[in-house]
Amino acid sequence: MISPTGRQVDIPIENGFVGMIDRETFDEFLRDRAAMAGADRLTGTFLRVDRDGPTPRVIWRDKATGEERATPTRAIIGADGARSAVARAEVPGGRDIPYVIAYHEIIDAPETGAGYDPDRCDVIYDGRISPDFYGWVFPHGARASVGMGTGIDGIDLKRATADLRAASGLTGCTTIRREGAPIPLRPLDRWDNGRDLVLAGDAAGVVAPSSGEGIYYAMACGRAAATAAQAFLRSGRPADLRLARRMFLREHGTVFKVLQSMQDAYYRSDDRRERFVSLCHDIDVQRLTFEAYMNKRLVKARPLAHVKIGVKNLAHLLGLVSPE
Ligand SMILES: Cc1cc2nc3c(=O)[nH]c(=O)nc-3n(C[C@H](O)[C@H](O)[C@H](O)COP(=O)(O)OP(=O)(O)OC[C@H]3O[C@@H](n4cnc5c(N)ncnc54)[C@H](O)[C@@H]3O)c2cc1C
Repeated sequence: MISPTGRQVDIPIENGFVGMIDRETFDEFLRDRAAMAGADRLTGTFLRVDRDGPTPRVIWRDKATGEERATPTRAIIGADGARSAVARAEVPGGRDIPYVIAYHEIIDAPETGAGYDPDRCDVIYDGRISPDFYGWVFPHGARASVGMGTGIDGIDLKRATADLRAASGLTGCTTIRREGAPIPLRPLDRWDNGRDLVLAGDAAGVVAPSSGEGIYYAMACGRAAATAAQAFLRSGRPADLRLARRMFLREHGTVFKVLQSMQDAYYRSDDRRERFVSLCHDIDVQRLTFEAYMNKRLVKARPLAHVKIGVKNLAHLLGLVSPE
């Protein structure tokens, strides 16, 4: 973790390990696994839901042939990402998902470089890279992802990423691809259409504030959506589709609230970012956040550590101690 003045906190990984996910192979692994569990894989683009017949039909464009096809169904899960066409077409409020834009470049990673360590994930809090979120250099074996996010219009994301690459000694590395995409800011108020459809993942808006972590939550949300769809298929009651949002927020709602208040408090200026990195020097902060990150729940077992962190937090937010 690197602060605006360049101070670095190395957060050691105790009792566990953090893996980087390579989406190219991971997403396909999930699709294969679904097929092995009995799913029929049909590849194409969702167009609309047709409700003229006795059962709803999903109308979609076949990727291989370009033809429009219709698949009859009793229940639909829309997991088509942050710009979800399913949410826009079917769910009240689904047109207005608030989001930040994230941009990254996948590059050929050097074995090691001036500012690059293949065994370290860098999270950069610096208003010159992102005035309201953060930048990152994440190694993925032979490649690395370098990028940043922001919700502020007019920020030049490519320029900021080029600056970050320069600061990390990565300017000369070959760029494999560039990707920019929205990251939703908060869970939608409604995930179902009150009839036969429920949303999951980015389509439902479930990305953790502060970190922008969405892969774990998309999968947890997918499980909640599947459970709700199963309950609906058994009972025939559309109200059962609401279970998805309720189950997910019961499990993760508090973590989302804490992370949102952290983002609101600390991501607003370089002074606050400096204080945030300073706070992360505290071993209790490191232990509690790491445990929360790995286990996806807040640790309640060490009340004294919470009190100590709370006091330090207040001292920083009230400006009673130096940022450093
Ligand atoms: C630059 C960037 C970096 C990120 N880094 C991280 C990270 O390090 N860690 C992390 O946890 N999260 C990260 N995230 C967030 C994470 O990628 C998402 O939260 C997560 O992928 C959400 O999963 P999902 O399945 O809901 O949506 P997606 O992964 O977006 O998948 C949606 C799928 O739906 C398909 N689709 C879209 N429209 C249609 C349509 N009309 N018809 C049919 N299919 C359609 C898409 O092709 C895609 O396959 C990052 C996001 C961005 C943009």
